[in-house]
Formats: sequence, structure tokens, C-alpha cells
Amino acid sequence: MIYGALEAGGTKMVCAIGDKNGQITEQISIPTNHPDETVPEMIAYFKEKNIAALGIACFGPLDLNPRSSTYGYITTTPKPGWANYDIVGAFRKALQIPIGFDTDVNGSLLGEVTYGSSKGLENVVYITIGTGIGGGVMTNGKLLHGMLHPELGHMLMRPHFSDPYPGKCPFHKNCLEGLAAGPALEARWGAKGKDLADNEKVWELEAYYIGQAIVNLILTLSPERIILGGGVMHQTQLFDLIRQEVKKQLNDYVITPLLQNMDHYIVPASLHDDQGIMGCIKLAIDAT
Ligand code: ADP
Ligand code: ZN
Repeated sequence: MIYGALEAGGTKMVCAIGDKNGQITEQISIPTNHPDETVPEMIAYFKEKNIAALGIACFGPLDLNPRSSTYGYITTTPKPGWANYDIVGAFRKALQIPIGFDTDVNGSLLGEVTYGSSKGLENVVYITIGTGIGGGVMTNGKLLHGMLHPELGHMLMRPHFSDPYPGKCPFHKNCLEGLAAGPALEARWGAKGKDLADNEKVWELEAYYIGQAIVNLILTLSPERIILGGGVMHQTQLFDLIRQEVKKQLNDYVITPLLQNMDHYIVPASLHDDQGIMGCIKLAIDAT
């Protein structure tokens, strides 16, 4: 049995074919243009592959409520043509196979807990820190959707006393994304993240915000592990700085064996940037 995988992003659509072990046998990438152009291209790719099901992990916000009349839609994105777009419906109609559907970050999380170093864990948070910040949540073995789905990149932050930067989020200013995503770093410091590698102050402040967000997540969701991915986390010195911040800000309020072993508690993604597409395979398997 082979499965189709679609990692739908704001800039590119990654389409792949894989087996039940998450082995990807082929993969293409198509720029995300208007759906009238991009969706038929993807359908043509999958149509001739004889896949048993398709898993889609998609940029959002999304309607994931199976009882909703707009289940499977991308809802309010500013991307031209994609707002209120029935992405699941388009593929279901054309391919006539089961379609699994979730957020891009839940897809990456599912990839990590199915095929990666967090295999078997049932309470995990996955955060990606890139152009935006998003997070997927698994609780008691289930991906968390709730009313909509978590938008943990927009959790409100207590600004650091030394940080005059007001924050970049058009909705909240000083939310996690507004203070710590790649574009916020660039606006605050006047240079791209990768050109600031040697500036310790940059990464100490970045760790303060990411650490604060993780403390909030520990206190609200009680995860067994936090996985961090995305372009900004290529600054690998951040991992230790974040672990120290979490310890400091949590201030021994919660003490568990998992938290005593911070190196295994806050970890990088383990699947070489394939966690998203492999998660889509699992979404497809679960849809059959
Ligand atoms: P996207 O979020 O758009 O899917 P990425 O996860 O690659 O893509 O994130 C892009 C952001 O990460 C940009 O703001 C970029 O400046 C930043 N970034 C990429 N590589 C690095 C790096 N090595 N160090 C610091 N920041 C980086
Ligand atoms: Zn925000």
C-alpha cells in the first residue's frame, strides 16, 4: 500500500509518495500560487500514483471540526485565493480516496512521534520558529484541535525589561511571534538572524522569550517533551540557552524526572526536515 503526502505551505507545496514506514520514495515541490493553478498541478501528480489515501498538513487557520459544514477549509488566510478554500474537498472530489487533514505543525509533530526520536510519546508539543511561530500539541496520544486548533505562536509575552522593541504582530504586538519569529529578530536588531550568530545578546533575549513560552506550555499542557524546529533554531546555541531559561523561569515550581533531564526534554526535530512530510504519510494511514 502506498500513500500520498502533501505538506501545504504558504510558499511551496511539497507532494510526496511513501509507504507505511514513512519511507518517502519520491517527492516534488510546487510554488504556492493561486489555487486554480496550483491545485490541478498537485492533483495531476497524485492521480497517476495509485495511492490508497492522502494526508494533508496545511498552513492555517483551518476548519478541523468534522461536524462543521466547512470542515477541510482553509479559513482566513491573507494568501490570494486561499481564504475559505475547500482544500480537502478539492482532493477528495478529484481522487476519490480518504483524506487525512491537520495543521502543518500537527503534521510535523505526528511525524516526530511516529517515526522520529519522540516515537511512542503521547504528550508532546512541537514548535516551529521561522517566518512565523506555530505549534502542534499531542495530548494523551491525540492531536489537539479543540475549538479550532492551538495558535500557540500568538501567546502573549511579558516583555524583557531591557527590550524596547514593541513587537511585530499586527494583532497583538508582543506575542511570541511578534517578539521572537525571524522577522521580529530582524526588525529589532537590523540584520538577518543568520548574520547575528555571534551576537550573544540576540540569542539570550531570544531564549528568554522562547523559554517563557515553554514555561507557559509546561504549566498548561504538562507535555513530556518539547520539540523545536524552524529556521531560527538553526542557531543551535539556542537550545542550551532555552533550557537554562526554562529552568530559571519555572523556578522549581514543577519538579519531575523529565525536567531534571533538560537535554532530553527540550530537543531539536530529528527527521532532517522530513518530519512534516512523514507526518502527512501518517495522516494518510490514519485516514484509511
Ligand atoms: P518558513 O517559516 O518561512 O517556512 P523557515 O523555518 O526557514 O521558513 O524560517 C525562516 C526564518 O528563519 C527567516 O526569518 C530567517 O531569517 C530565519 N532563519 C533561517 N535560517 C536561519 C539561521 N541559520 N539563523 C537564524 N535565523 C535563520
Ligand atoms: Zn500575535
